[in-house]
Amino acid sequence: MKMLVTGGAGFIGSNFIRYMLDKYKDLEIINLDKLGYGSNLENLKDITNKYNSRYSFVKGDINDFELVSKLIKEVDAVVNMAAETHVDRSISNPYSFLESNIMGVYTILEAVKKYNPDVNLVHVSTDEVYGDIEEGSFTENDRLMPSSPYSAGKAGGDMLVLGYARTYNLNAKITRCTNNYGPYQFPEKLIPKTIIRASKDLKIPIYGKGDNIRDWLYVLDHCSGIETVLEKGEKREVYNISSNNEKMNIDIAKMILELLNKPLDLIEFVEDRPGHDVRYSLDSSKLKELGWKPKYDFKEGLKETVNWYMDNEWWWKPLINEKVLSPTPWKLKW
Ligand code: NAD
Repeated sequence: MKMLVTGGAGFIGSNFIRYMLDKYKDLEIINLDKLGYGSNLENLKDITNKYNSRYSFVKGDINDFELVSKLIKEVDAVVNMAAETHVDRSISNPYSFLESNIMGVYTILEAVKKYNPDVNLVHVSTDEVYGDIEEGSFTENDRLMPSSPYSAGKAGGDMLVLGYARTYNLNAKITRCTNNYGPYQFPEKLIPKTIIRASKDLKIPIYGKGDNIRDWLYVLDHCSGIETVLEKGEKREVYNISSNNEKMNIDIAKMILELLNKPLDLIEFVEDRPGHDVRYSLDSSKLKELGWKPKYDFKEGLKETVNWYMDNEWWWKPLINEKVLSPTPWKLKW
């Protein structure tokens, strides 16, 4: 079995590659990544040494049709995680988001259609395509109503996957997960940024009143969700992935400060991001029917994550700069 993972040098991709290679001893993985700002080959240093006969890295863009076609001809499965992912950056510089999150998906679909239409393709998407919800949880049948250039681009990519799957009878599926947390997440995201700033006694910037709600999923539970869809997902179906851990941003900050024995007055409220979604919530009964269930309790997962960042300063220190730790990154020119 040979698999192409795109965007594998990022946060979720690197965790997914490690998870799959550790579990399946006859699996080979090719990781295609353009090495954008959120990526880091250090995420996979251990894997490169441990599995050098089953793991290879190709630096390249998913918009490169020739390269993507060559790789797609060689594999039995494709997991597309390559995307521009930081909502704040999408507000001041949307174009690169459309290139990767729409045109990149189109390029992959064209290559699959032409050279390997039966390949098992899982396209990794996000809860953000549904927009926010005051009460209840979105199911896969709900309408898409994105709130940012990032989520609009992801929604466009999803629509292309569904359209191509029907017209060209491709074996393509979509997963939509909630906010991930865990090791190797780029330091500009809420949880790592809070851990790093708190550990250095710096103020913790929280948007608005801190009452925005996110539904947190431990990254390895996301990996097992994608694995389930690869094995048992149906053609042209969408699967939500959530472990129903809804928390207000302010409570996340408080929990991290408590774990690090730091005072709560480090929290500082800053100007809210425009269009900031209020609450995300997904119903993942459909994936559970395929036998998936999350393993990680939020408190345990958060504690492990805090410990990982405290033990691995070598990993995050080179990534830190003023932009990454800016309290209001959406105001910057990227
Ligand atoms: P990330 O930013 O850490 O990693 C994305 C990777 O994709 C990077 O290594 C980047 O270099 C690569 N990439 C971007 N554009 C590319 C291109 N055109 N060609 C080749 N490589 C390219 O992001 P992540 O958090 O690991 O997210 C992975 C996927 O999961 C994304 O599709 C994202 O939309 C989705 N997702 C993430 C979350 C989350 O909480 N992190 C939640 C829901 C969905």
